[in-house]
Amino acid sequence: MKFSDIIGQKAVKDRLVQSVKDGRVSHAQLFWGPPGIGKLALALAYGQFLNCTAPTPTDSCGTCPSCIKSARLTHPDLHFIYPTTTTKKIKKDPESKLFAEEWREFILTHKAYVDLNRWYDFLGVENKQGTIFARDASEIIRRLNFKAYEGKFKVMIIWMVEKLNITAANKLLKLLEEPPENTLFILIAEEPEQILTTIKSRTYQVKIPRIDKDDLTKALAAYYDCRIAEVSDISSMAHGNWLEALRLHDNAEEEKFHFHNFQQWMRLCFRKSVIELIDFCANINGIGRERQKAFLNYGLTLFRNALLSNNGLSELVRLTGDEYAFASKFAPFVHHANILEMVSLMEEGIQQIERNANAQILFMDTSLKVVKLLQVKP
Ligand SMILES: [Zn+2]
Repeated sequence: MKFSDIIGQKAVKDRLVQSVKDGRVSHAQLFWGPPGIGKLALALAYGQFLNCTAPTPTDSCGTCPSCIKSARLTHPDLHFIYPTTTTKKIKKDPESKLFAEEWREFILTHKAYVDLNRWYDFLGVENKQGTIFARDASEIIRRLNFKAYEGKFKVMIIWMVEKLNITAANKLLKLLEEPPENTLFILIAEEPEQILTTIKSRTYQVKIPRIDKDDLTKALAAYYDCRIAEVSDISSMAHGNWLEALRLHDNAEEEKFHFHNFQQWMRLCFRKSVIELIDFCANINGIGRERQKAFLNYGLTLFRNALLSNNGLSELVRLTGDEYAFASKFAPFVHHANILEMVSLMEEGIQQIERNANAQILFMDTSLKVVKLLQVKP
């Protein structure tokens, strides 16, 4: 990873580069800041820059053998320690080195923009908390006893150092205080107040700020290959967090999908277009159970909004432009005489999908009931 691959963070990059030029690389640094801002990416770019054999004044070359190995996370002088836990594969005594393959795939897939939840999801252990164990600390000590193989520096990255347990921390204290020559520890944390003071006091702290809004917007537009205006709102809502921006964008796409389908569904029900409803239900059958539930939930929200706007409470209704236009036209058909039944239809639908009902039959049945309910006069 090169510095130029990282979103924004110019001031931090400049400082890190300058420290190398001045020969003032602190041997134990703590990169801390909120999630989704590129802390690990910066650590990787820093390590690559330090070991690059042909760096430019501001970045690693990206093409020398050292850079290529660093970018693939296979450089023999690049080491990682991170929280782990027992999984289906590793049933006891988990430690970082047992998950090296998973870690590499995880980091490369996400271009080093990652957080703990995503790591746990990746390992399939959503409900467990990971730890950095004493075993991990022993492994660090073992590896640092060897000389740097190829690089100028041995780079040891400890990701989410909050998760270091006390025994592990005590094992590392001496190393952090007097590390072997040409060793760089980069500790990464989101909640510095949760780090043991003994560890914190032995590091040089580098606070990483949130990504600047303009930088985030540009990166989003490039990532989704769209205009700046299309991602500007999401960029504001994401508060400089790249991962949050991606999540918001995906949610917005999903909302559009549900809106489009719900609008079509209600139109077909209103026109009593039975043949087209059959096609519609076949399509919905193919979107998968989780999305079918989300679709009915979306319907519930729109019904609620239609009712609110009918009762002059439209200022409470939070809808996008297209949704609002549709809801206003649709609202008169949802009223005191049918709303409760509409709502319970959607709720029952969700329950039946959870009980593995045949979705195509369920949606057809629901559609016919909606057709009737839409005819009910207020
Ligand atoms: Zn290079």
